[in-house]
Amino acid sequence: MAVFVVHEHHASHLHWDFRLEMEGVLKSWAVPKGPSMDPKDKRLAVMVEDHPLEYGGFEGTIPEGQYGAGEVFIWDKGKFVLEKGDPEKGILEFRLEGRKLKGQFALTQMKKAGPKNWLLIKRRDQHAVDGYEIEQIKVRARNTAKK
Ligand code: MN
Repeated sequence: MAVFVVHEHHASHLHWDFRLEMEGVLKSWAVPKGPSMDPKDKRLAVMVEDHPLEYGGFEGTIPEGQYGAGEVFIWDKGKFVLEKGDPEKGILEFRLEGRKLKGQFALTQMKKAGPKNWLLIKRRDQHAVDGYEIEQIKVRARNTAKK
């Protein structure tokens, strides 16, 4: 089984980076609203550059002046099973075994909206949570002060 990790990334805009171990790297998507356990939610997931597998264990602060500056936390991680599809075809169906994210999910490319735009969707199963609201690990005082 391969690993998945979700980083909560307090960059200039808070987002969650959803990463799947595939082909020896972490395929990565930036999810502005974060993953949801509610099958009714279709979460925009913007494909970003592959990351090395070692990055899956990273937590810390990306320094000011660097791309993505801000704090990074591991929001969830675990094993996953790829059940169908591949990134080239624009469809991935998989089962997550994390602490927060569990069960069947899909990532589907929205080709008309540009090749980098995908949707992350929870499939209906026994793990689905209607009305799911994501819990942030931490809100930086200086981020909240800006708003
Ligand atoms: Mn990020």
